Amino acid sequence: MELRTYTLDTPQYHFYSVLHKTQTYEYVSNKLNQYKDLGNVKIEMSMGRALNLMDSFLDISDPDTKTENSIHAYQTAERIRKQHPDNHELQICGLIHDLGKVLFVFNEPNLAVVGDTYVVGCKFAESIVYFDTMKENPDFYHPVYSTEYGIYQPGCGIEKLTLSFGHDEYLYKVLKYNQGHKLSDKYLNIIRFHSFYPWHTGKDYSRFMKPGDEIIMQDVLDFNQFDLYSKTDTEFTLTDEIRMYYKNLLNEYFPEPLKW
Ligand code: FE
Ligand code: FE
Repeated sequence: MELRTYTLDTPQYHFYSVLHKTQTYEYVSNKLNQYKDLGNVKIEMSMGRALNLMDSFLDISDPDTKTENSIHAYQTAERIRKQHPDNHELQICGLIHDLGKVLFVFNEPNLAVVGDTYVVGCKFAESIVYFDTMKENPDFYHPVYSTEYGIYQPGCGIEKLTLSFGHDEYLYKVLKYNQGHKLSDKYLNIIRFHSFYPWHTGKDYSRFMKPGDEIIMQDVLDFNQFDLYSKTDTEFTLTDEIRMYYKNLLNEYFPEPLKW
């Protein structure tokens, strides 16, 4: 099965052309501002509740899956469990990696929830999916944001870059803000950068990497195999055993509700 094939005139193409013309540096800055005080924001809910909300979410940016996102969560975790039965932290990372998509509950449009991410504030990388549509983005012609380094310093570190806004950055922020969980920084970074294809797969933006960033990249790539290839498990059935197993893991790693 061929994955991540992006052809013209598909729902994915139309989705990305809107995303790419909308997500400018200014748009992202406003979004980050909007979600910066999680303590004042909206709701408190458990990770398990966020997972259940995914029963009614389909990712339209994804050409490879037509199942609800909750199934994708269990499939990714189960793929990890088969290969790493003792690595509970990696399994839980697989289970929750996309739960930032609860943004849809706050009425965010799809273009601010899903899709591959890219850097705003400097020249757009040519490995961005449907790169041609980036020409519709006003920043493409901006005197600073269109330059090689833009607003950044060489070697500043990947965590200093502002990425297009979506479920990755949002869940990362939620996990940073809420201290009462047991997921370590390694997994927080995997979550933060898992959709950053132009970097981890396209190998663009290396001019901004600092020592140590290549470890984050390798962690993301290792994780990505489970995220991506779980979509080929078309035979998957969600059993009570699976539900129970992850319910217990969630209780262990996320004993308290989180502020979203
Ligand atoms: Fe994702
Ligand atoms: Fe995913």
